Amino acid sequence: MPCRVQHQLSAEPLPAGLYIVATPIGNLGDITLRAIETLSRCDAVACEDTRVAGKLLKHLGISKPLWRHDDHADEKARAAIVSSLSDKSVALVSDAGTPLISDPGYRLAREARAAGHLVTTIPGACAAIAGLTISGLPSDRFLFAGFLPVKDKARREVLREFGTVDSTLVFYETGPRLGKSLAAITEELPGRETAVARELTKLHEESRRGDPQSLAAHYEANPPKGEIVLMVGPPVETRSQVDPDEALREALETMKASQAAGHVAKLTGIDRKQLYARAMELKE
Ligand code: SAM
Repeated sequence: MPCRVQHQLSAEPLPAGLYIVATPIGNLGDITLRAIETLSRCDAVACEDTRVAGKLLKHLGISKPLWRHDDHADEKARAAIVSSLSDKSVALVSDAGTPLISDPGYRLAREARAAGHLVTTIPGACAAIAGLTISGLPSDRFLFAGFLPVKDKARREVLREFGTVDSTLVFYETGPRLGKSLAAITEELPGRETAVARELTKLHEESRRGDPQSLAAHYEANPPKGEIVLMVGPPVETRSQVDPDEALREALETMKASQAAGHVAKLTGIDRKQLYARAMELKE
């Protein structure tokens, strides 16, 4: 049966509560119908920066009271927003993308829930997800870790810590720091496929994948402008992780002992003669 999406903007006020509204990450066309409707019907918009939110609302032809909010807001200011939720609908937006994702909102959402108010989501753009989906890196499991630390020592510690996780790692990054991060990845996570997604959804959108060293060389020659998602593929099986007996048995199913020994020598780095002797034992 064909499915027709129907959407009609309602002028009715929204039920009281907190509406977490995602906004575009660069291309205004990515605003969702529900985001427009929620921003049109809510009583007030809580935002990181009133100028940025004001510009978006103006573009949409919407005028609403703007309440400045960030995670550093004092408890009183946050408590005032939370208590307003008993009879007001408040849309929370950040400067771009999904609120709470490396953006303010966590404490507000947590406290609003704890106070028993409606907390609901109007999902949409998120740079981490957009970058991952075009990177060509495995997307079945990923670990989003926000921004890498600015200091080199701390940055390397984070890379070492997350480097053992069997997932694609997703970080937010800035142009001026990309080179240092790629250098740290080259040294701390050698051989890991790395991807850079830049200026997603914008005119100069770019996605590059390769070894971190070549990416570093590329961006040294072409200093990156704009916003960046940096991703590192999951660990590949290392030589020491290959079980030589298991690999030999598997190889012997289709190869002669000498060929199997050569094949497993390449995988493990173990001496070929030693592997040949073992292959003969296993054959018996
Ligand atoms: N909440 C946002 C989201 O959902 O993506 C992220 C906010 S965080 C403060 C800003 C960072 O997100 C940027 O420094 C950059 O790393 C990443 N970012 C945002 N927009 C982007 C874009 N269009 N292309 C690539 N990265 C972007």
